[in-house]
Amino acid sequence: MSSSSPVGAANPSETTVEYSVDPDGRIDCVETEAWNRFALANGAPELVDSRRIVGEMLDSFIDGELPRLLYWRMFNVLRAKQVPEAIYKFRCDAPAIERDLELVVYPRFDGDAFHGLRFQSVEIETRVRPGVALLQRRLPGGSPGATLLRMCSYCKRVFDDATSAWCGAEVYLAVGRTADVQLSHGACPECFAAVMRTLDG
Ligand SMILES: [Zn+2]
Repeated sequence: MSSSSPVGAANPSETTVEYSVDPDGRIDCVETEAWNRFALANGAPELVDSRRIVGEMLDSFIDGELPRLLYWRMFNVLRAKQVPEAIYKFRCDAPAIERDLELVVYPRFDGDAFHGLRFQSVEIETRVRPGVALLQRRLPGGSPGATLLRMCSYCKRVFDDATSAWCGAEVYLAVGRTADVQLSHGACPECFAAVMRTLDG
């Protein structure tokens, strides 16, 4: 595959999802079967139809202002040919799965012309766990008086104000905290540092 080709070939690995974006950051190709599997496992059946995904800005699927800023920083670093590729290792949990992912991002160049980025997301390890209702909510919800709960967009841990610590959503609920929450997405210190290390090489 040349570096400027869109992604589209069937991938032999069940645990790899490939997609690409154009120079503006719009999704221009998705490896459909793997994407659908991933969307279903993430409790996002509305994303299964890849025809509705192509043409959308990739950052519209990233929760939280800070993770979106980090994404655009990575985008600009790769576009400027500052690094040949970026590799992230991060937790990306689904409601009933803990998942360690490795995301490799390749710039697509034809000579000096930038054609966007190709993403290859590989599941390194998964662990099944009881479904966590908090993770099933893609959008902020809760009643008008709901507790504001910060969630890391990468590892999906939440910040427990009572202990001033980041913990798993299942732990947060197990110790009796309210499930009536309004989620606000960001990055926990560990994930923020990991992303910055990747970007700064
Ligand atoms: Zn995190």
